[in-house]
Amino acid sequence: MPDFDLVILGAGPAGTAAAMQARTLGLSVALVDKALFPRQKLCGGLVTGRCAAHLADIFGMQITTDLFETRRNFEFYLKDQSLGNLQDVPPLHLTIRWDFDHHLLKQALAAGAADFTGHRIEAFDFKENTIDLAKGEPLTYRLLIAADGVQSPTAKALFGKPFSQDTIGFALEVEGPSQAPTEATPIRIDFAAADWGYGWSFPKKSSTTIGLGGLHAQNPDMKLHLATYLDKLGTGKTAKVKGHFLPFGAPRPIPGKGNVLLAGDAAGLVDPITGEGIGYAIHSGALAAEAAKIALDQGGTHRALPLYTSATKPIRRSIAQARLLRPLIFSARLQPFFARTFATSTTLKRDYMHLLSGEMEYPALLRRTVLRLPRAALRYLSAAASGN
Ligand SMILES: Cc1cc2nc3c(=O)[nH]c(=O)nc-3n(C[C@H](O)[C@H](O)[C@H](O)COP(=O)(O)OP(=O)(O)OC[C@H]3O[C@@H](n4cnc5c(N)ncnc54)[C@H](O)[C@@H]3O)c2cc1C
Repeated sequence: MPDFDLVILGAGPAGTAAAMQARTLGLSVALVDKALFPRQKLCGGLVTGRCAAHLADIFGMQITTDLFETRRNFEFYLKDQSLGNLQDVPPLHLTIRWDFDHHLLKQALAAGAADFTGHRIEAFDFKENTIDLAKGEPLTYRLLIAADGVQSPTAKALFGKPFSQDTIGFALEVEGPSQAPTEATPIRIDFAAADWGYGWSFPKKSSTTIGLGGLHAQNPDMKLHLATYLDKLGTGKTAKVKGHFLPFGAPRPIPGKGNVLLAGDAAGLVDPITGEGIGYAIHSGALAAEAAKIALDQGGTHRALPLYTSATKPIRRSIAQARLLRPLIFSARLQPFFARTFATSTTLKRDYMHLLSGEMEYPALLRRTVLRLPRAALRYLSAAASGN
């Protein structure tokens, strides 16, 4: 008999959510991560309302002040132009991944997952359902959930490479001095700070997380963009610049192979407009555990991948719809129309906030944006023609 029903690789949000849900469903779980926790993870740490709902569902977790700072104010810019600000939007929460991920891991371990953190994967044997770790005995499983991040060694072993260079995103981030934020201090978003991407400044108590990200292929000079952005924000001395890939709109159509299910970044599940990935990671991790439970109960591990593929379809559909909207927001040609519409429409700005809070989905947002665009385009053209 295998050692475990499930071996879960990666103890970030996707892996810990998979472990938590699997334990709730009564499966035996080994949770493996090369890192010892707490560990560094490059991330803005913005937790949306959508993500908060998954945290409550899967971890029974509330938004508490020990892990989160809540903000309700936003300001938007395009290059040097202010596109306006919004107050009293649905709450968004800022966290530090060092603490957040450690907290999730502790919950998964308390729920009974066997702790294999501090263990790097050395080799996979997908035929024998076994993985070799750098130290200790090999682990055998009935199903493997790979939540091992954007550079997923599992996806590389299964498919030859973890992602495509054409579609991958890349982001740079620094921690700047904290501006001692109050609840009224806004979160700042700068469209066009990077090409096909944006910049952000997230004010936290201990530091201000400043970053920018976009399509990697469109940004050969990301470091220069960051230097310009930091100058614009008048940021003082910052910690070291760090970079990381992030999936940006090209999820795997079949998230796995054989007895292996890919979750979170390993499956490419990040919103290609907002860059939000934590919520999708938690959701997909839990869905992978649920598919595993049904398949194992029905006595056929081969059933897990089709069940999981079908359960995650709405996430991929949402990402596909975001990709349709993306050129309106990020392409140099359409951006002036979008900026003008966005600057003049409080409703549209609020719609974007409702998307983040989980109260609106992309089809509605796409429709509402497009409906506004032709009018904005006409206004823009007529102003240009009259020299205003
Ligand atoms: C700069 C930046 C800013 C971001 N900001 C936000 C944000 O504000 N809000 C948001 O929602 N999303 C944000 N994201 C996206 C978000 O960070 C990811 O989508 C999220 O972390 C995915 O979770 P995950 O569990 O799939 O992977 P990860 O959190 O990357 O976890 C993967 C785990 O696998 C482990 N692992 C990897 N290889 C091995 C191996 N060989 N052996 C054992 N273990 C291994 C790693 O140690 C890691 O702990 C940002 C991303 C970047 C790059």
